[in-house]
Amino acid sequence: MRPLVATIDLSAIRHNYAQARACAPQRQVFAVVKANAYGHGAREVVSALPEADGFIVACLEEAGEVRGLHGKARLLLLQGCFEAAEYRMAAQLALDVVVQSAEQAEALLGATLAQPLNVWLKLDSGMHRLGFAESELRAWHARLSGAEQVAELNLLSHFACADQPEHPLNAAQLAVFRSLDDLPFASRSLANSAAILSRPEAHLDWLRPGIMLYGASPFADRSAAELGLKPAMTLSGALIAVREVPAGDSVGYGASWVAERPTRIGTISCGYADGYPRSAPAGTPVLVCGQRVPLVGRVSMDLLTVDLSALPEAQVGSPVELWGAQLPVDEVAAACGTIGYELLSKVAARVPRRHR
Ligand code: PLP
Repeated sequence: MRPLVATIDLSAIRHNYAQARACAPQRQVFAVVKANAYGHGAREVVSALPEADGFIVACLEEAGEVRGLHGKARLLLLQGCFEAAEYRMAAQLALDVVVQSAEQAEALLGATLAQPLNVWLKLDSGMHRLGFAESELRAWHARLSGAEQVAELNLLSHFACADQPEHPLNAAQLAVFRSLDDLPFASRSLANSAAILSRPEAHLDWLRPGIMLYGASPFADRSAAELGLKPAMTLSGALIAVREVPAGDSVGYGASWVAERPTRIGTISCGYADGYPRSAPAGTPVLVCGQRVPLVGRVSMDLLTVDLSALPEAQVGSPVELWGAQLPVDEVAAACGTIGYELLSKVAARVPRRHR
């Protein structure tokens, strides 16, 4: 077997779900499991959270998989349905659906459904990506209230800058959301991980934690450990080759990295086709034998290289951690100019997941 595996600690995910619940004990908590549970395996994550109040997926394909595992939990379809046939499928799967546009609302009113759906009207409170403006939302609330296709009307919106708690857009979005307080909704939801951890006034009825469940931080300046979160995924492998490179010689594609002194180079069986970012610059941390060493040279499709000069004991077969229990994914992401979300959700299908 190629020495590369993503080990998923399901007890860490259970711990992190409990942390979200502890932030707002009287509220309900959706577990966001879209994008294959941010790369962790939706089947296993859903099965590991039998006590979850609900789950959130992006699309119908994901919803079908989750409903097969969890017959009863609330299951919210974030991007909603675009035609009557999709609404019929959503009704069969007993989904909660987001309605974020006039086209989606009209399609719902034109659908004949086996059972009415729980609808979440999405308010565009300031992110300007999806959702109704306040006045449109009032009009749709009036039209959908009592419609035969609708069981329950709920309200939801999404923060653009919750990861920057001081950003003025957060308060502005909350104020827009609260301007609909006079409308009757079965429940309201606004808080993603960052808002759960930093903005209690946005907790409302249903929390929507995603990244915190997987033990990464939504904030650039606060580590997951500081927030009491446990990393769920460890991407690990082993050195598959070790060589001495003389001063002045280069390593990897494009000869972009040149050894300034004789350098011991280790090669690791992980590359951009596994989800490791090709943009990772020299110096990105990698753990070999539990010790940090710098990545050198360009990341290639199946391989990457590190400078082992500070680690004479490292040899072929020595253990490697790309991120995880000992090397926070957020640190690797920051070195690569991205966020933990991207690294975790892009771990390729060819990397075996081991759940424990
Ligand atoms: N709610 C919505 C509407 C989302 O799109 C997302 C993630 O993209 C989440 C909640 C979860 O966000 P986070 O992973 O930052 O907790």
